[in-house]
Amino acid sequence: MAIEFTAHTDEARFYSPMADFEEDVVEIEFREDPLTGQQTRVVPQVFPMPEDRPDVSAYVSDDEGCFFCPDMVEEATPEYPDFVDADRNAVGESTSFPNLFPYGKHSNVVVLTEDHFVPIEAFPAERLRDGIANALEYVHDVRAHDSAAYGSINMNILPSSGSSVIHPHLQTVVDDHGTNDTRRRVAAEREFHDEHGRSYWEALLEEERDGNRYVGSTGAVEWLAPFAPIHHWHVAGVTDVTGVPDPDDDVVADIAAGLENVLSYYASLGLNAHNFSIHLNEGEASPVVVDVVARAPFDDGYVSDAFFLQILHDERVVDAAPEAYAPEVAEHF
Ligand SMILES: [Zn+2]
Repeated sequence: MAIEFTAHTDEARFYSPMADFEEDVVEIEFREDPLTGQQTRVVPQVFPMPEDRPDVSAYVSDDEGCFFCPDMVEEATPEYPDFVDADRNAVGESTSFPNLFPYGKHSNVVVLTEDHFVPIEAFPAERLRDGIANALEYVHDVRAHDSAAYGSINMNILPSSGSSVIHPHLQTVVDDHGTNDTRRRVAAEREFHDEHGRSYWEALLEEERDGNRYVGSTGAVEWLAPFAPIHHWHVAGVTDVTGVPDPDDDVVADIAAGLENVLSYYASLGLNAHNFSIHLNEGEASPVVVDVVARAPFDDGYVSDAFFLQILHDERVVDAAPEAYAPEVAEHF
């Protein structure tokens, strides 16, 4: 078998105050990502799930001074350098412009909506599709102008996911450096392709399609809960497209449709924050893949879901195993 799913379980023992100080045993499962070998710990009840569904209506309704609202965006956001045809770019309702606080040589922002806030349970695929298409136009412009082997289109929403601006937006990063994770991923994808003569992702889908981590498909994109999730309730969308898709390619609408489904699943859990990344890396070994994860629900006094293990130990820690939640996600497909 080309793909190996490696896992083992340790037991932690203690005398529990929750059970009259009888011995209690907690199982911690360790899994290795079949592509990169990255380790994930499955730790019961590690996610800071609030008792009540958060009510953020007061926080998200204050649009005073928002740079991304339609009446401010043209005076408060930057204009593109000359290699991009437009000062700012519009696709549907979305508007894009350079990131005022760039993360790399080529870094932009795509404001997704004219509305100041849209909750994840009401995020229509069409708005995501137009925003992703807008970001892809930028990636094409960059690659026509400069060498940039690595690219990604990313999203945060609400402060608990790392977003400092409430107004829904994407962030594109395109350069020749890649991130640590991208470099690891692309190197492993190339190694797999060299060894097996085909893409890891194609082989993975073949392995997973009839299994208990498979979620479903939206057009040509197939979705699954990865064996060793990167973060909580991780769902990955796998395409058979390599390179940078055309903005009006069907795969863009297919990705957006799948994202809408995953976000609707997160909303059904009472969650309100997520991150996603659409990976756009060069080479036949690296098809376009989407990773989407849930983040700690934003509320007054929320607890971050990233602590010393993720930040200082580069360790992946999740609450639920993919086999447990994949069937629940599938109900939204
Ligand atoms: Zn706004």
